[in-house]
Amino acid sequence: MEGGFRNMALNALFPRFCLSCKREGQIFCFGCMENWVARPESATCPFCEEKGSNRTCVKCRESNFLDGLVSYLPYGNPIVRGAIGSWKYDGDRSIESTLQQWLMRDSDRLRPNMEEFVVSPVPVHASRKRMRGFDQASILSNWVAEMYSMPVETLIVRSKKTKPQAQKQHDQREVGSLDGIFEIRPGLVEIPRRVLLCDDVFTSGATMDAAARCLKEAGVEEVWGFVIGRG
Ligand SMILES: [Zn+2]
Ligand SMILES: [Zn+2]
Repeated sequence: MEGGFRNMALNALFPRFCLSCKREGQIFCFGCMENWVARPESATCPFCEEKGSNRTCVKCRESNFLDGLVSYLPYGNPIVRGAIGSWKYDGDRSIESTLQQWLMRDSDRLRPNMEEFVVSPVPVHASRKRMRGFDQASILSNWVAEMYSMPVETLIVRSKKTKPQAQKQHDQREVGSLDGIFEIRPGLVEIPRRVLLCDDVFTSGATMDAAARCLKEAGVEEVWGFVIGRG
């Protein structure tokens, strides 16, 4: 109930308005949550957006490690962007039940062919997790694992010996400059054959691809991504 009290206190201090109907109350009111349906995005290559399949296209395979990407909400939609933003940047956890409900409603459409896959979060900086107090990638990993009855395990961590390059702002990074920011979690007993990496948003894909590279160099055969939205 701790979250409930915290939300009540937050509501009193900062009144919230529904992202959809703008009524004061919750970030997404119950009526809108029930009725609002996001139109799914068409399947495209995660890197060049070639249409047809959410598997990485033949050309992009030459320079990327991620085999494909499942994304469940259209990030271009202002309601979706508002929901993710209030969760990710404002630390408003009241949106979680809505995000999880949207995910579960589309579970059949999204269901990837995930036999033998292990779900793993893309690790965030420890400092960022401390700041927000929670970690979106881990929360999403748990939802996905529970929904599809898949095993979940933290397979990679942020490397301690991060080069200064990797600490730059996300958009300032160049693709390829993230090499070595992840490493296999010390003490990990078994490297799975297939991994489903979870993260909140996929933008350039550089972070997730660096994670996929780390896993593949350790012997993982196939790595897919699962995100809430593609920026
Ligand atoms: Zn509403
Ligand atoms: Zn492509």
